[in-house]
Amino acid sequence: MSSFYELTVLGSGAGASSVYEGLTSSSFMLSCDGQPFCLVDLGLGVGREVMRQFGEFPSKVIITHNHSDHAGDLPVVALVELKRGNRLQIIAQTEVMQRLKQHRMAEHHQQAKPEALADWVGLPEGESFELGFGLTLAFYRGEHSELSFGFRLMDAQGQIRLAYTADSCVSTALYEKLAPAQVFILDARPKPNAWHADFAQIQPWLKPGVFILGHGLSKAKAYESYPELPLLLAGQTLVF
Ligand SMILES: [Zn+2]
Repeated sequence: MSSFYELTVLGSGAGASSVYEGLTSSSFMLSCDGQPFCLVDLGLGVGREVMRQFGEFPSKVIITHNHSDHAGDLPVVALVELKRGNRLQIIAQTEVMQRLKQHRMAEHHQQAKPEALADWVGLPEGESFELGFGLTLAFYRGEHSELSFGFRLMDAQGQIRLAYTADSCVSTALYEKLAPAQVFILDARPKPNAWHADFAQIQPWLKPGVFILGHGLSKAKAYESYPELPLLLAGQTLVF
């Protein structure tokens, strides 16, 4: 029997959204048969939204890259969860993992090495990792100002159930890896941007099952200005 997977959007904010507008950074929770089991990105404001919507953190956290809107809450959450008995398993592409350990976790280096605070899983690009709940994960590189990797989740039948570009310009190599997914989430901004896809550029990739995250728009603005686009907003859920 095929499992029932669900994704809950925690935020769709861009780089400055959390600090200046109080919009939670782009992130989502993965659940299987109603059980939350993996968080995707833990940027500024996400920790609070996880507590508000779920009341606790899962132990698995995928981090796409070391920008503050994707990893800013990680040091605090890793330390507090460890003290609460929930040792995080942090999953990232190998070099991204090194950057997180060296730079993102630097605020804890005096008191604890990153390895003492969490279990770190570094994956080479394209290598499969058993995420659990019948899904395998593989990372694929995006084009961004900071080293960033999208990923896809495949089930035991070889179906690509979910894919996410994370922060990236339109990259044909990346998009072609991810586009066959049942649910494909693209990062895109309203206006042209040197390090992100924009709404006009992603038009050819839009079809049923494709959604947009990382746009940084409030709910009111998204509905008012872009009613025709599949923009994801905090609290929304998708089945995949
Ligand atoms: Zn970024």
